[in-house]
Parts: sequence; C-alpha cells; structure tokens
Amino acid sequence: MINASYAHRFHEVSAAVRAGIAGGTYPYGQPVASAQRNTADLPTGDPVIMLTSNNYLGLSVDAEVLAAAQRVLQHYGLSTCGARLHNGTTVIHREFEQELARWLGFEDAVLFSSGFLANVAPLSALGGPGVVFIADQLDHQSIADGCAQSGAELRIFPHNDLVKLEYILRRSQDYACRLVVVDGVYSMDGDLAPLDEIAGLCERYDALLMVDDAHGLGVFGETGRGSCEHFGVTPDILMGTLSKSFGSSGGFIAANHEVCDYIRHAAHGYLFNASPPPVLIGGARAALQAIQTRPELRQRLWANTIAFRQGLIDEGFVIESGSAPIVPIPVGDDDLAMQMTRLMRERGVFLSVAAFPAVPRGKSRFRATVTAILEDRDLDRALSVIGTIAREKGII
Ligand code: PMP
Repeated sequence: MINASYAHRFHEVSAAVRAGIAGGTYPYGQPVASAQRNTADLPTGDPVIMLTSNNYLGLSVDAEVLAAAQRVLQHYGLSTCGARLHNGTTVIHREFEQELARWLGFEDAVLFSSGFLANVAPLSALGGPGVVFIADQLDHQSIADGCAQSGAELRIFPHNDLVKLEYILRRSQDYACRLVVVDGVYSMDGDLAPLDEIAGLCERYDALLMVDDAHGLGVFGETGRGSCEHFGVTPDILMGTLSKSFGSSGGFIAANHEVCDYIRHAAHGYLFNASPPPVLIGGARAALQAIQTRPELRQRLWANTIAFRQGLIDEGFVIESGSAPIVPIPVGDDDLAMQMTRLMRERGVFLSVAAFPAVPRGKSRFRATVTAILEDRDLDRALSVIGTIAREKGII
C-alpha cells in the first residue's frame, strides 16, 4: 500500500501526463522505429526529418564507425560486466583515454559510462569542507547534481555575468579550494561561455576551471577541439560526452595525471559503476579518427546550420543571434508548443520542445539541432512545414 503523501506526489505528475497523452499533446519520449539518419521512421512506418538529434556529424550511423564498432563487439562481447577498477578496463578503454588526452592536449583522460556521470562523479569527488563551487545559472543539470552531491558550498552567478562571477570569486578568498564550472556551449540556447575571460578570472583568483564541452567538441574550433580551442584556453578539467558529435555513448574528463589519478580513486561514479561497453568505445574511437581526418563533416554541419538559421529568418521567425547547430525557435505558450510538436510530427518533422521547468514558464521553444547528414531537401521541407504550422498558429 503506497503511503498517502507519496501517492499525492505520484498522482500530481501522473495525472498531468495521462491528460496530455489522452489529449494528444504530450510530446516527450516519442518512440522511433529505425536508425536515426537524416530521417527516421515512426512506429507507423512514416518517415520524419530528424531535427532533434545531437548526432552533429552523423557519426552514429557512419559506415566506418559502425564497422569499427562491430569488430570490437565481436572481439570483446557486449559488456565488461564490471567496474573499471576490477575487470572493467579493456585495452581499448585505456588506449582511447590516451588518444582523447593527446588530441585535446592533456596528460590523461578518464572515461565514464555517460556524459551525465562524467560531470556528477568528478564534481562529487572534488567537493567537501573548505571547497566552494561557482557555477553558471544555466549549467547542465548533471553539473547541478554533481555540485549538490559534493558537500561543497555552492555559489551561482547569473548566466554569463562576469561581473557577478568576479564578485563571487573576490568574496570566496577564505575557502581553501575554489572551482568554477561552466558549459562551453549551453544546451538550451546554443550560446557560448566567454571562456577566455572566465579563464582569466580563474587565473587571477586562483580557482580551478572545469568546462563541460558536451556540445562543443567536434563542432567548434579550427580542428573540432571544441569551445576551448575556439577561445584558445586550456581549462584544468575538460568534460566531454561521447553521445553527441562522437555518435556513441559515454563521457570523459581530460586533465593532468594527478587530477585523473585522484578522480579514478575518489569518484563513486567511476569506482562503483560498470565500465562503458567496449563496443561504444570502439565506435567512439573510430568517430575520433573521423573528427580528426574528415573536416568536410564539420564543414557540412556549419553549412547546414547557416542555411537553417537563415531559412527560419526568411520564414519570419525572430531567432537568437547565436551560431551553434542548436537553434531555439521561440513559441511562448507551453500548451501551444506541445500541440505544434504533434502537428510537426504528423507532417513529417521530428522536433523536440523545451518547456517549463527546463526553461522559464511561458518561454517554451522548439530546440532544433542541425546535423551534417541533413540534405538540402530535408532542410527545405522542414523549414516549409515549420513555417506553415507557425503561420497557422499565428506565432509568425
Ligand atoms: N552536459 C551537457 C551540456 C549536455 O547537454 C548533456 C546531454 N544532454 C550532458 C552533459 C550529459 O551527457 P549524456 O547525455 O551523454 O549523458
């Protein structure tokens, strides 16, 4: 028998979800029934143009990456069924950590089984008494959760507000350790942190800098090394995920030997978690090769991004002036955004919606992500569907 207070808590969420499903407006977790290329199949068999995948370079369906993953799958089997300190470290886990570190200009790297964990586990190991974490208000939820678990004092500064960041740093001199943690590219709006200035402040106030570059790696920078390359900075700890431009799944941090040794022995999400499956590491390794040797993928991503952003402006949307392949399309009303998501899917465009509490109430938006594998005709068709529905609903 479920306790009455818990029952009330469960009911509040469940009733709202079920009402949305019954009314056909619940937009989340819609299943697809195929690989996610430029298009994917819905369970009905109808194709939809994928505008909501973080598969920025198309590597999750790339022939070379899949062939490499298949070879590793045959060799190592499906899972190590063990944590890294026991039987969970294979030769390719170690080799890939070294390749990532070399590529990014660090001494070492540590793999985790998700990007989420690659924030939560290191942050929770870096806290404790005498430590203050200083985080941007719009940092990813995994950073917020890591901070909450760490036992460190937490100070939040308004998004990209460097005057407030400096104020907090100045007033945090009594703490033995200070750590500033920011996203390189913010996941909701695709805007960048001014990393050059943030790194300067960290240097001046003797604070460690950790950058979550989940959306920057493979995308930004002259050679795809992310937002840090773009700004010419080297943070103390760089976090990345394998589930976006690497087309796989898993996450990592890159740092110096001592930080990595410490994390390997203090981070519970490393010590007590089965290692990321070798097959995903094999795929990610081939993806890293592709990122390094096939710049045309990044060029195509940027060409598509520019075309999509310009197409939205031509349709009459007012969009943020950012440049990333994450393109927020403003709607406003939460219910309208939900309804429009369903209409888009019915007319062949798969878009995700960001609504409260992911964004402030009344600030709902579509969060479109552009990838290198979208073809010109996919972009034209998607823009026409999005524009038509937005006009029907009177938002442009
Ligand atoms: N950081 C950021 C900025 C992200 O957007 C995400 C994914 N949404 C993560 C971390 C977590 O990565 P993963 O989904 O690969 O676990």
